[in-house]
Amino acid sequence: MHILCHGFRIQQTTFDEVWSHLTHPDGNSVVYISMEIGADPDVYNPVRQKLLDLERTSSMDGRLKGFIHKLFHGPEKIPTYSGGLGVLAGDTLKSFADCKIPVVAISLLYRQGYFAQIVDSKLGQISQTVQWQPEEIHGLTLLHDPHHPKKPLIIEIPFDIPDHPKTVIQAQVWMKMEINHTLDFFIPEILLDFSIPETPEIIRNAAGQLYNAESSIVKALQRRMLGTGIMPTLRALGFTAQTFHLNEQHGVVAILQMIAEEIQAATGYPDLNQATDQQILEATDRVAQRTVYTIHTPVKAGHDRFDKALYAGISRQSCQRLLGLLACDEDNHHSYNFTTMAMTVNRAANSVSRLHRDVTRKQFPQFAHKISAITNGVHHLTWISGARATVFNTFSILHNWQHDPGVFAHVKKLNQDPVLGPRFRNYFSEAWKKDTAILYDYINTMLVQHRDQKLETWIDPPNFLSSLVDRHFRLDPRVFTIGFARRFSTYKRADLIFDNIDTLCEIIVSNNWPINFIFAGKAHPADEPGKSVIKLILDSQQELHRKSKGLANLIFIPNYDMKIAKMMVAGVHAWLNSPKRPLEASGTSGMKAAMNGVPNISIMDGWWAEGYHNGQTGWKFGLEGPVADADLSESPETLLYREDAASLYQLLPIILQEFYTGSKNGPQRPYDCPFLCPFLHQAIMNLAMNIPIFNTHRMAAEYLTKYTLHLPGPQEQEMSHFRKLYTSDCA
Ligand SMILES: *Cc1c(COP(=O)(O)O)cnc(C)c1O
Repeated sequence: MHILCHGFRIQQTTFDEVWSHLTHPDGNSVVYISMEIGADPDVYNPVRQKLLDLERTSSMDGRLKGFIHKLFHGPEKIPTYSGGLGVLAGDTLKSFADCKIPVVAISLLYRQGYFAQIVDSKLGQISQTVQWQPEEIHGLTLLHDPHHPKKPLIIEIPFDIPDHPKTVIQAQVWMKMEINHTLDFFIPEILLDFSIPETPEIIRNAAGQLYNAESSIVKALQRRMLGTGIMPTLRALGFTAQTFHLNEQHGVVAILQMIAEEIQAATGYPDLNQATDQQILEATDRVAQRTVYTIHTPVKAGHDRFDKALYAGISRQSCQRLLGLLACDEDNHHSYNFTTMAMTVNRAANSVSRLHRDVTRKQFPQFAHKISAITNGVHHLTWISGARATVFNTFSILHNWQHDPGVFAHVKKLNQDPVLGPRFRNYFSEAWKKDTAILYDYINTMLVQHRDQKLETWIDPPNFLSSLVDRHFRLDPRVFTIGFARRFSTYKRADLIFDNIDTLCEIIVSNNWPINFIFAGKAHPADEPGKSVIKLILDSQQELHRKSKGLANLIFIPNYDMKIAKMMVAGVHAWLNSPKRPLEASGTSGMKAAMNGVPNISIMDGWWAEGYHNGQTGWKFGLEGPVADADLSESPETLLYREDAASLYQLLPIILQEFYTGSKNGPQRPYDCPFLCPFLHQAIMNLAMNIPIFNTHRMAAEYLTKYTLHLPGPQEQEMSHFRKLYTSDCA
């Protein structure tokens, strides 16, 4: 079994080939820098998939079976992501791997992950520290020192910490391989682990948890650990990449280092302070030629600003001089603005949707000329459910879908075929029902568990239903099911649909239409307003149940992660997205729903302004039109709850009628046959129109035009095929 031949689970020749490319003196590769990477192996693991297929189709000796068993039964979560940014990074790397783009990714390894969420109906969100063990994760490898194979490789990083300027901190290095679906290429994900005894306590503390917000100094140190770690790590591993892609500005300190090195190389000055401003700016231009930057949000909390006085304690004078030139904060002369620096030093600045491009140009008018749009995508192989994949595998017109998400454009033709069309629709809706059943099994089991937990612990179950149900209770999967799951930031307005429960219940009761709302998501532990939205949702459950005469039920699934996301986006009947426009730069969970054909009910923000095709793929509601400056405000009184909720309440009866009656004006039927024509048609149009666009293969192909990377002819051709699927950057 070649894929088992050593710890890396791919062929040695594949490993050598990738490695030699990434270490070649020509530097024809890319470094992808991200504060978080979300790529849990329990959601996508092509090696495991391959082994499963083999186990099913061939006879195997017991040793091999034992090994496979081990692969399936160890811990499989790498909880070092908080939400969309991290999952996007993971999806991007998977597509780079599938398309064989030579990339190495760098991030940090947080031994306390993000945090685990418990939800109590009275207290709301309770955050718990996770302690996960990278040592136990199959597929995470600690790299060893080639000269002392028994010892971990240690990277030494010059660093300044409060009271100890000019010290050196140390990190060990983990590697996860993002292996492509044909198992003949991979992207190394390098994770720096500062939680080792040799590292000063203040650094270990800052390394523990992603987005630790205990103080601004911890936050600043965490960003610096990523930024300053990059060049020494690349050197230690021999990587030579000449293009640097910053996924958000978190790692932008790496750019400072590159500029410093560039100045030194050009002038020979041992001390940067000897360089003139002119020399610094020239060096900056050269570094900018190698840098690509993606900005992910117009929301202020997403942009790092650090107090100059604070920064003076953790950096050198020369670093402060560079920051003074490149990171001016127009709003506050006492702080550095890292977004400004990232905006300044790059060859391409990309926003994550068309609307976000326009908003970003408004926010950064001085850089407007170079801000373009590359709309986000999701990795189709990760997010298409197993049941749906089986259906797609059945129809030969789609046979290449795993390799090429553009193939889904053929779904239109397939749907119109007099023989195959009905079969496809039938298989597809059966697969949908299967995915719904999986979600409801999870929920029903959870409700019973919560009921038992209430009897045994002090935790009050977060689901009002848990107190009503007995062990034999089953929530009905035939009921129209709306899903909503994302981080609980206030601008996302998770509670918008419950803004006026009386109106909502009136719609439901007067027509006798049942609805289940399935919610999930975490609020950052320091985000009090975000946590209060979770509390508000929990508090709405009983009222909703009572006023709807039991027709509407609201379920909260605790501890949202990629696995829950995948189950939800495939299992629900519609995916709700209700942010304040234009604050949702892209949003990706709705794309995951679309990958499974699940229609979105969404504000015309982020990706949906592009994925909504005149009602063919789902519904829109809420304010539209040109974006005014006031729309960018995040303060509670400007969040437009009343207006947008009213618009949603107007839309809801239309959606429910379509679901339950199968036509816009037909007679009402019981809901035993939910996937009648218009509803199913929308699902199929999502496959046909949105999968070819909102996938990371297309996105990666668009990013390639921003890199200085040369690909061999056939590969360039393939990427140009993916590029032709869509052009993000047009009006
Ligand atoms: C996709 C995903 C997100 C991002 O969802 P948005 O719609 O972009 O907010 C967050 N968390 C998890 C676990 C995800 O899988």
